[in-house]
Amino acid sequence: MPSPRRREYKRTYSTRPVGKSPKASSKSISVVMKSNRSSGTMPELTLARLLRRKLVSSDLPGRPDIVYARSKVAVFVHGCFWHRCPVCDLPLPKTNTGFWRRKFERNVERDQINRLELESMGWSVHEVWEHEIREDSAGCAMRIKDAIARLPQFAA
Ligand SMILES: [Zn+2]
Repeated sequence: MPSPRRREYKRTYSTRPVGKSPKASSKSISVVMKSNRSSGTMPELTLARLLRRKLVSSDLPGRPDIVYARSKVAVFVHGCFWHRCPVCDLPLPKTNTGFWRRKFERNVERDQINRLELESMGWSVHEVWEHEIREDSAGCAMRIKDAIARLPQFAA
């Protein structure tokens, strides 16, 4: 089963990438997968618009979706499917379940590593779930703005 593979990530982790996704076994699964794509989807755009920020592609660990460079605040919008939201608890794909379970475990693990790495660089990290934005995008934006306003460098 393990096959030689190119490095998918620039930085090295303790765990290796699990390899390429298996082909979707049916058209409907392929549609689900595509709608679960991890970036460029609506929720992060919605949040960025509310925060009046642009979605960035940075060299920061994990490439946060929204970055406040001056106040060193990084915001990740996590898709509930790819990042295994504990609230939504979406079912694993029925085919290649083992592969997907490993892949998702790596995603979650990487999220934690990225967060720790950013924090060790002095960044504050905010993770927002896709479903939170769908349910209350204004509330999410407010939470982040509040957190930024409370940063020590902005205290009077
Ligand atoms: Zn969720």
